[in-house]
Amino acid sequence: MKRNIITAALLATTAFGASMATANEPVWDANKVKLISEKLDNGVYAYYPSDAKELESKGLPVATSGGFIVGDKGVMIIDTMLNERLNKQVQDMVKDKAGKPIVYAVNTSFHGDHSYGNMYLPEETKIIQHQVTQNYIDTHFEHDTQFMMQNFGKGRGIEEITPTDADILIGTGGKITVDLGGKLVDIMDFGFAQTGGDLFVWEADSKTMWTGNPIITVKPSLPWLLDGHQLETLDSLKKVRAFLPDDATVVPGHGSPMSPDDIQWHIDYLETVKTQVQSAIDEGLTLKETVAKVQMKEFTGYALRDWVHPALNVPAAYKDLSSK
Ligand SMILES: [Zn+2]
Repeated sequence: MKRNIITAALLATTAFGASMATANEPVWDANKVKLISEKLDNGVYAYYPSDAKELESKGLPVATSGGFIVGDKGVMIIDTMLNERLNKQVQDMVKDKAGKPIVYAVNTSFHGDHSYGNMYLPEETKIIQHQVTQNYIDTHFEHDTQFMMQNFGKGRGIEEITPTDADILIGTGGKITVDLGGKLVDIMDFGFAQTGGDLFVWEADSKTMWTGNPIITVKPSLPWLLDGHQLETLDSLKKVRAFLPDDATVVPGHGSPMSPDDIQWHIDYLETVKTQVQSAIDEGLTLKETVAKVQMKEFTGYALRDWVHPALNVPAAYKDLSSK
């Protein structure tokens, strides 16, 4: 497992490196992102970068999204951002819109852009994580911050990040319901969806779901299977889609609010990867030949496709399907 993560990280570094002019020009710049909030319902807000709508439709990378839910007892924030600057923007939005203490913060995964901001939260905020996320942070933190600095640049506040322990852990297949006072929030694991520590947040009254990275954003973005598990990821996303009413609002990991139908693009993509990789294996093709063959031109348009499709997603499917 450890080796898989390191291999994926090296691949990621190489691919990002190739697509960037210098290490000082990250995919998106955490020193420049401006977060805006959108009220989805009474006490239910999404936040996302001000340029999200413009970038996502063009298939360009968008910085991290999240949200917050306001109950009588206080506020839950979903994802804590990459650095102090962005975390402060979130805390300022909460102060402005809710004026209540942040009693809970959920990390949808261990990824730094969703969890590094934990250390800037008030003492009283209880951090909710998946057990797998906590284990990863306990064992890989140093490596993880190095990886994030390579991809998101030095001088973006990552240098000063120290790990923060969670207060509430959710196990594999687990679910908890948090009562914020007049607002019940479900935090659920639908199965392996990108890291194995993937939490989805559901507020039933407003029919709002936060997905974190397993859903990057609308078409033409594609999943990033950094840790493999193509088949399980496909199953988990199908479960998420089946759970959602058609009129739900989905706040993805890196974009503005979207509809449940927008998830279908990602399911169709992963389903096609599975089918085409399986036929390549049936023909006896090697991994390299399979990557060359499974082009899937109908799923183009995403700026990071030349990395995620051939270097992550097709190899992940090949590994899963070859071992069957
Ligand atoms: Zn992310």
